[in-house]
Amino acid sequence: MTTMQTFPDIEPTALADSDKVLANLTLAVPGVTRTFDVHDPATGRTIAQVPDFDVQQALAAVARADEAGRSWAATTTRHRADILRAWYDLIRSNSEIIALLITREMGKPLAEARAEVSYGADFVRWYAEEAVRPAGNLRDAPTGGARLLTRRAPVGLSVLITPWNFPLAMATRKIAPALAAGCPVVIKPAPNTPLTTIFAVQLAVAAGVPEDLVQVVTTTDAPAFSTAVLSDPRVRKVSFTGSTAVGKVLLHLAADNVLKSSMELGGNAPLLVFDDADLERAVEGAFAAKMRNGGQSCIAANRILVQDGIADAFVDALADRLAAVRVGHGLAPGVDLGPVIDHRAVSRLSGLVEDATRRGAHLLTGGSAPSHPGSFFEPTLLDHVPADADLARTEIFGPVAAIQRFSHQDQAVTRANDTEYGLAGYVFTENLDRAFNVADQLATGLVGINQGVPSNAAAPFGGVKQSGLGREGGQEGLEEYEEIRYYNLSLR
Ligand code: NAD
Repeated sequence: MTTMQTFPDIEPTALADSDKVLANLTLAVPGVTRTFDVHDPATGRTIAQVPDFDVQQALAAVARADEAGRSWAATTTRHRADILRAWYDLIRSNSEIIALLITREMGKPLAEARAEVSYGADFVRWYAEEAVRPAGNLRDAPTGGARLLTRRAPVGLSVLITPWNFPLAMATRKIAPALAAGCPVVIKPAPNTPLTTIFAVQLAVAAGVPEDLVQVVTTTDAPAFSTAVLSDPRVRKVSFTGSTAVGKVLLHLAADNVLKSSMELGGNAPLLVFDDADLERAVEGAFAAKMRNGGQSCIAANRILVQDGIADAFVDALADRLAAVRVGHGLAPGVDLGPVIDHRAVSRLSGLVEDATRRGAHLLTGGSAPSHPGSFFEPTLLDHVPADADLARTEIFGPVAAIQRFSHQDQAVTRANDTEYGLAGYVFTENLDRAFNVADQLATGLVGINQGVPSNAAAPFGGVKQSGLGREGGQEGLEEYEEIRYYNLSLR
């Protein structure tokens, strides 16, 4: 079912402003002569060329970070906090430039890019504040005769590998705690979206972060990069956000070098709507959980499970909400949904919709790719999706909402947990007992209760099962870059 979309024109001033931002970027790295192209996914056009590091150049970056890290680890936490705070201020004062970069390289509408700048900046402010909080403790030995003292120390050189879906936030939520803890950093952004990271790190240097402390390594050969860099003895930590398949490869490499590892991997989030939910709240929450970032979020509502009594009203209201979504270039006024990241994603989404309809799902709106340059997919709604459809079993990562219906709470919880993933879950109900009972039973790292956008820099974000290891955000996110030392003080 194709509802023909007319694409609104790009706002000329925003386009000119973003072209100026792109032209003013400093991208060249001394000694790295090969480059690769970065594209605007809404047009397919090349917008920049960035250095393509080979393995030797990546290892030279490791050496520079390692050298700079020695004095950084010895700085006071107040010093690090002040610099992080200055970085936060610079991100805020450059927020429009960063938002334009995000939209041009990743495609999301400018309003969403601005929201990402706030969210991404929040991690820097949070870890500026968290850097100086007391760490470690003192306890008495249970048998007497000693005081047991713990303190935190930086884990060491940290390799950070980020995906393309939140080009700023995925970088800041790793870099900020690493710097706060006293670690040097090598960061490899996704090759589709390196520009935001490069610019954000330049702002960090302008804020006082020592020049070599954070090395941005852009490369098209990620496997060669990770094989060489993660086996380097100077590296002590890897933090990865991306697909579960790549996370497993990195965990194997990390095992050989016994690296402290944080893995933020894929998801297959269930969103449960009970008969006693507030309909409007549930529709708005489901819309946000599904459509934020064009559905290209690891916590996107992948399976929307709706109880029979509210299902018809919920589906009608969600269909209306999706039908009103305006698709187009992220710089066009009034656009709510930009492109998906590339043409491969478009074919994957088409395949998922076809598979689901072949198995009996009802296609209510959208379902195909509009005929327009760039990689777009219509906002799509399918009802009665069978639990064994690929749509229900794999990560959709696009603007396709898949509804399943259920009659009993136990059935919904069993189905929600029937996945190898365990990142986010959502519960919509006005019954407080049910809200907590169901949240407790969901095998996920986080749960949005009557809430479709649960991420917060102050809270620990991360998954269970094959969705990953470790947490980002909150106090817990800092511990990922620390190791604990323990001293035993003998008492006479
Ligand atoms: P991806 O796994 O393909 O790539 C992520 C990053 O890993 C990119 O920088 C890529 O270049 C790099 N990479 C790929 N192969 C590599 C290798 N062998 N060695 C080292 N690096 C390698 O994922 P993607 O398509 O960019 O992002 C989408 C995935 O990320 C989804 O599965 C999504 O759920 C997940 N994600 C998870 C979270 C989370 O917090 N759990 C957040 C955002 C995205």
